[in-house]
Amino acid sequence: MNVDESELVYEGHDTYRVAGNNPKDENQPRYDQSGKPTQNGRFADWVDNSKQGGGDPAVFRVYEKMKDGIWTDRGLYLLLDYEIDSATGREVFKFRLKQAVGDSSARLESAQTDSPMTRQIPSWVKQQVYKRDKGCCVICGASDQLHFDHDLPFSKGGAGITPENVRILCAKHNLQKSNRIE
Ligand SMILES: [Zn+2]
Repeated sequence: MNVDESELVYEGHDTYRVAGNNPKDENQPRYDQSGKPTQNGRFADWVDNSKQGGGDPAVFRVYEKMKDGIWTDRGLYLLLDYEIDSATGREVFKFRLKQAVGDSSARLESAQTDSPMTRQIPSWVKQQVYKRDKGCCVICGASDQLHFDHDLPFSKGGAGITPENVRILCAKHNLQKSNRIE
C-alpha cells in the first residue's frame, strides 16, 4: 500500500480477549459471533458500498491520541480503501484514509464511530450529556432521531470537546442549526 503525506493508514481492531486466546495472535474479525459487522466490518462495508457505486466515501474526523485522555484533531478524512494484511501470519485490517479537501462536514454524521482514532465526540462525553439532557432534544423534548451537537466550532477555538459544549438535538433541530447562517 503506497501512502502519501495526506494519507494515513489505520490498523483495525483486534478480536476480544476470551479465555485462552491472545488477540494479537488471532485474525482481526470482520463479523462478531452473532454475524453482525464489527467496527472493522462497518469500515469495510463503507468502503465496499462506496466502490460499488453506493455513494461518496465515508468521512471521519480523525483524532490522534497524544497520551491518555489527550487527543488532537487532525481534521477530516475520507475512508478510501482497505486491505487485509496477512504478512505477520494473521489477518490484520489496514484502512487507508485521505485528508479531505473542501467542506465534507455535511457528510460527517453518517460516519460517526466510537473508534478511538476517529470518534467525533468521546463516548464518556456522550454518556454524561445523555444523562444530563435526559435522552431528549434540549429544544423540543423529542426522544428519537437524536444527534449529539457539538456547539463550539473548531474554527472558533473549540479545541476541547467537553460535556459543557455538547448537547442533544433531534434531527429537525440539528438540521435547523446547521442551516443557520452566522
Ligand atoms: Zn427538537
